[in-house]
Amino acid sequence: MLDDVSIGNIRKRRTFAIISHPDAGKTTLTEKLLLFGGAIQLAGSVKGRKAARHATSDWMALEQQRGISVTSSVMQFPYDGRMVNLLDTPGHEDFSEDTYRTLTAVDSALMVIDCAKGVEARTIKLMEVCRLRDTPIMTFINKLDREGRDPMDLLDEIEKVLRISCAPITWPIGMGRELQGIYHLLEDRIYIYQEAAKGRAGTYATIDGLESDAARDFLGLRAAAMRDEVELVRGAMPEFCAQEYLAGRQTPVFFGSAISNFGVTELLSMFVRQAPGPQARETTVRSVEPLEDKLTGFVFKIQANMDPGHRDRIAFMRICSGRYVKGMRLFHVRLRKEMRVSDALTFLASDRQHTDEAYAGDILGLHNHGTINIGDTFTEGESLMFTGIPNFAPELFRRTVLRDPLRMKALQKGLDQLCEEGATQVFRPLRNNDVILGAVGQLQFDVVAFRLQDEYSVQAAFDNVNVFTARWVYLKDTGGAKDAKGQKKLEEFRNKAYENLALDHSGALVYLAPTRVNLQLTIERWPELDFRETREQL
Ligand code: GDP
Repeated sequence: MLDDVSIGNIRKRRTFAIISHPDAGKTTLTEKLLLFGGAIQLAGSVKGRKAARHATSDWMALEQQRGISVTSSVMQFPYDGRMVNLLDTPGHEDFSEDTYRTLTAVDSALMVIDCAKGVEARTIKLMEVCRLRDTPIMTFINKLDREGRDPMDLLDEIEKVLRISCAPITWPIGMGRELQGIYHLLEDRIYIYQEAAKGRAGTYATIDGLESDAARDFLGLRAAAMRDEVELVRGAMPEFCAQEYLAGRQTPVFFGSAISNFGVTELLSMFVRQAPGPQARETTVRSVEPLEDKLTGFVFKIQANMDPGHRDRIAFMRICSGRYVKGMRLFHVRLRKEMRVSDALTFLASDRQHTDEAYAGDILGLHNHGTINIGDTFTEGESLMFTGIPNFAPELFRRTVLRDPLRMKALQKGLDQLCEEGATQVFRPLRNNDVILGAVGQLQFDVVAFRLQDEYSVQAAFDNVNVFTARWVYLKDTGGAKDAKGQKKLEEFRNKAYENLALDHSGALVYLAPTRVNLQLTIERWPELDFRETREQL
């Protein structure tokens, strides 16, 4: 049994990620959440942190050049008696495998929407991913200090496009130059907007009661219209319901301006009170509860050291149950091997630091010397594996062209590492020595080219290649691997389809289909075989 202190610590965890379309204000909001969490003294430090990283690695120059964030990290801060874990996700539209995987490691999400733009393409995609696990979502409608769309229209759009019901918690009083404040529907309180509070965790003046004399004086000519509007909102929109929110069917909505710190505290205090703590998770064997006394966890991300001088990588593990203490032994289920963990990292605020303990809901950074892959499970000895960590079928393919053929070895080493990190997928055709890369977004190729040059001094270019899609090939009957007849079929297929076959990073057989029609015909011709979009984790 876990002791009471540990149980309390686990219940206190709030592990979440921010989802948004690029430019909606995710970075700014992150910065403000850290500021209110007391993690940083002055807003601007998140940007400062980014800048410091740029200085340590040229790779980051690519981010700077494109104004994107390719890396992601974990930030932990205490707030109102809870411990918040914010998992940052890369913001660029094109580079999304990491983001999707990060969403498997959270218990809830925060959706940021630009009040002038409403629901955008990336928001829709991310919402679909959240929906796979019914992740509860809170919504922050940002940039209230600018002229935006009618708030009712915005909620309408969220409900229609994202198919989730909206329960407004705060409501704007004006917008843009006319912005006077927000009205808190649950507290019946006005928070008065002041631009001057920019950059500091300023406290705002409030007025209790929309019907009060003070409110009437403050709202002036707007008073009657505002009261009507609030009445309309209360009548037309559902009230906040914790069960509906936790089931992922209703999103509480907040309005504010991240850049002026406005409306953020109201969001944060509701978030720590209502957002779910660590949730139960499915494995190949059984469901794992967070309060179990034995530690379990899975790796959702691997990241290269920011400093190219250090070649080790960090594997980010979400703890799903129990407690980590320094020096404990963990069982690497895939390799069936015990390892002692004495130097795991946690992520208090933006500084990585050594830690003595961590709890379900927290993220641990494990030093990885090539033995940990994305999707790996760690336990204290039990043989189970967490499921549902997506492995994406690449949609784009390029042939690697090496400028200096003598650098082949370095290229292979670099690509092996980038594969492990999930930055790209490598396919080696059986018929020649080509190296084909697969990715979900175009930007992944740019990142790979940049990092090969930066970290391995390998100059590579990428050519178009005639591959429509990749399918991992398995015998249909799982017991069939040992079945001689099945093996013969597989052998026959290898010979017949030789021209289109390749091995992936792990040595698994992959069919590279030149066209959709070719893929269909091949599937029909080989009914004994399974053509899967993803590689088996086990
Ligand atoms: P991200 O791409 O979602 O991380 O967005 P950023 O936080 O980098 O913000 C994108 C741009 O919007 C930046 O120029 C921010 O200064 C600006 N921005 C963010 N929040 C606000 C806000 O509340 N009001 C206004 N006017 N601009 C904002």
